[in-house]
Amino acid sequence: MISVNSKLPGAGTTIFTVMSALAAEVGAINLSQGFPDYETSPELIELVNQSMKNGFNQYAPMAGYMPLREEISKKTEKLYGAYYNPDTEITITAGGTQAIYTAITAVINPNDEVIIFEPAFDCYAPAIKIAGGVVKALELEPPDYHIRWDLVKKLVNNRTRMIILNTPHNPTATILQKEDIDALSAIVKNRDIFILSDEVYEHLIYDGQTHHGMARYPELRERSFVVASFGKPFHATGWKVGYCMAPAPLMSEFRKVHQFLVFCVSSAVQAGIAEYLKNERHYLDLPEFFTEKRDYFRNGLESTRFELLPCAGTYFQSVRYNRITDEKDSDFALRLTKEFGVAVIPVSVFYSKATDHHVLRFCFAKKQQTLDNAIERLIKV
Ligand code: GLN
Repeated sequence: MISVNSKLPGAGTTIFTVMSALAAEVGAINLSQGFPDYETSPELIELVNQSMKNGFNQYAPMAGYMPLREEISKKTEKLYGAYYNPDTEITITAGGTQAIYTAITAVINPNDEVIIFEPAFDCYAPAIKIAGGVVKALELEPPDYHIRWDLVKKLVNNRTRMIILNTPHNPTATILQKEDIDALSAIVKNRDIFILSDEVYEHLIYDGQTHHGMARYPELRERSFVVASFGKPFHATGWKVGYCMAPAPLMSEFRKVHQFLVFCVSSAVQAGIAEYLKNERHYLDLPEFFTEKRDYFRNGLESTRFELLPCAGTYFQSVRYNRITDEKDSDFALRLTKEFGVAVIPVSVFYSKATDHHVLRFCFAKKQQTLDNAIERLIKV
C-alpha cells in the first residue's frame, strides 16, 4: 500500500456536503448549506445564454473579462469611494473560496502566523495549514460574537502575517462596526500584516446598517485582499464566480498563484454578469428582498422553543436551543434532520476546538413555502 503523508490529517468532509447529502438522503428540508431554492433572475440567465451564443466559449483572460472588472471597479468606487484599477487590482475567481485559498497561498510562508476569528468559515484554516502557516484562532462567543481587540493585540507578534476578517459574518450573521475598524487599524499600523477580508455577503446587510468593508479605509485597503462573490447577491451559487481586489503589488502575487490554480473562470458567466451589474438595482435592492425573508423566518421561529440570535447580515439565522435539550449541537443537528426533517448546521464545526455553545445555523434564502414548511416542523421540536 502506498503511504500518504496527509497535508490535512484532521480534516473530514466539509459540513456543507455532509448536511446537504443527509438532507437529500432522508428527504429533509435543507436549511443547512447556504443557497437559495428559488431561481436566479431570468434576465441574468438570458444574458449568460446570449453570451454563449455570442461566442464567449473559450478561455477568458487570466485575470478576468475586462468589462466585468471595469464594472466591479465602478461599483466599488461608487459604493465605497475606493478606486481599484481593473487592469492591475481586480481578478475574477472561481468563487470566494478560490479567492481565499489563492490569497493565503500567495503570501503565507511556512511558520507565518494567521489570526482567524472562530466560529470561522471552514475553508480558512485548511488553506493556512497547506501553506505551512500557523493558525491562531480567537474564539468569539454568543450572543453578540464581538471581537475582543485587546485579545487580538496580545496575539500579534513578529510572526503574525495576516488577519482574516469576515463581514457580514458567516455563520453568526454579525457585522463589523466602525469601532472594530478603528481597533484593527491601530493594531496593524506600522506592521507587515496583510488583511484578508471575506466580504461575500457585502450586499446582504439589514436595518439600514453600513457595510464596513476594507475598501472604505485607505490605511486598511493598502494591505487588504478583499474577497467578494456573485453567487450570493445574484442567487446563483452554482456558477462559482467571485473576485478579489487588492493593491497592485499584492494582486501581482495573487495572480502568480491564480494562473496556475484555475488560470481563468467561465467566460460566458463573466460576460453575462458584466451586463447585469450595469443596473445597480440588482444589488442595491437585496437588503429589502432579504429583510422580508429574514423577518418572515424570525417571526415564524418565535412560535418555536428556539431562541433567536441577532441577524444583522448574511442569509443565515442562528438560534440557541437550551430550552429544548442539552445535546451536543452536532448530535442535535443530526436528530433535527432525521427525526424532524429540517437540516441545519451545528456551529461548533466552525471552532477548531469544537466549542459548543448550543447554537444552530439556518439558511433563510428560501421560498416562503419552504420557510412555512420548516417552521411547521420546528414548532413540534
Ligand atoms: N457558503 C455556504 C454556507 O455557508 C456554503 C459554501 C460551501 O458549500 N462550500 O453554507
